[in-house]
Amino acid sequence: MRNEEMLLIPGPTPVVDSIYDAMASETRGHTDPRFVAIYKNAIEQTKKLFKTDGEVFVVAGSGTIAMEMALINTVAAGEKILVVSQGYFGDRFIKLGQAFGIEVDVLQSEWGNQVTPEEVEVKLAEGNYKAVTITHADTSTGVAANLDALVPIVKKHGALVILDGVCATAAMEEDMSKGYGQPDYKIDVILTGSQKAIGVPPGLAIVAFNQTALAAREQLERVPAYYCDIYNWMPVMNDPSKYFATPPVNLIYAYDEGMRLVHEEGLSKRIVRHTAFGKGVRAALSEYGMKAIADEQVAASTLSCILYPEGVKDAEFRAALGKKGVIVAGSLAHLAGKAFRIGHMGNTTEEMLEKAIELIGATLNEIGHTVDTAKAVERFKEDVRAVV
Ligand SMILES: *Cc1c(COP(=O)(O)O)cnc(C)c1O
Repeated sequence: MRNEEMLLIPGPTPVVDSIYDAMASETRGHTDPRFVAIYKNAIEQTKKLFKTDGEVFVVAGSGTIAMEMALINTVAAGEKILVVSQGYFGDRFIKLGQAFGIEVDVLQSEWGNQVTPEEVEVKLAEGNYKAVTITHADTSTGVAANLDALVPIVKKHGALVILDGVCATAAMEEDMSKGYGQPDYKIDVILTGSQKAIGVPPGLAIVAFNQTALAAREQLERVPAYYCDIYNWMPVMNDPSKYFATPPVNLIYAYDEGMRLVHEEGLSKRIVRHTAFGKGVRAALSEYGMKAIADEQVAASTLSCILYPEGVKDAEFRAALGKKGVIVAGSLAHLAGKAFRIGHMGNTTEEMLEKAIELIGATLNEIGHTVDTAKAVERFKEDVRAVV
């Protein structure tokens, strides 16, 4: 890998050479058959990833555009949604919905915990919810949603499941053909971005709609958007030689290569790998007296939010670690200064994480918090081996 630093923040994540190489290919016209073939392949690989019977949309934009596309193509102004929020990114759907005149109810967990299925059940029994938004892995807390418990409840109440997969897609199970409890209890919409567990540079919004979600779009009189109206993109997705708005040609090259790598490894292997990384990183850091805010049963496999031990200062720690070439992120909202976030997803490798654990230990020792680096590295290797 030609990267000089290990980008272990929860997105963007490390990009591998073959993706950089693809991205540096010659920029061609968006209707050039050579580009069109690549765009078509990227769309097909995305359909295969989600196993959807509907449509996928791969367009320029960040994950937030994908959230917007998912919501406003299924829910009209005045209709009601329930936001199941396990952190900062779950909360993002509140303002997003309100910006479009959607009535928003919210269930928020304490940071580090999950919203319980019982709470969702009680809320949905109030009736009239068009959709429920669920964040698969909340990037602020490292808490994963329990889809096996939540999807059947939402579907039983006749609402759409909108899943934010920005920090989960291609690393955690997101199978739109899967029936949760009942054959027809399925995830209706999944949205994601290119730069997290997929491991491609930022800039692409990716959204998948199943037939139920497409039927919801059909019933909307109007969508309060132009760029984000999926009906403007549908002809392009079915025939990428058509024009609606210029696609980010070089990013599509990169994404096509990223998708190729995802399918080459295989989703089931990726899920296991990420499970191993999550467990391994958290176990190793616990040897340093660093505890994840999420308990292991609810922890996401893609990133962790780690509390500092007494006396370790956030800015000092991250700056010293950064000098050693390991970049981690600070925490958001009330956890700012008290915890850091480490991504362990996408193209990140076992060797990189092993090195990162070692350098985190070295940094702690340097700033006067004595730890046993070798023991933590050993613990990482053991815990990874126990899973894969
Ligand atoms: C990063 C993230 C987003 C926002 O994506 P942007 O690309 O920054 O717009 C939304 N949801 C989750 C879960 C995320 O991790």
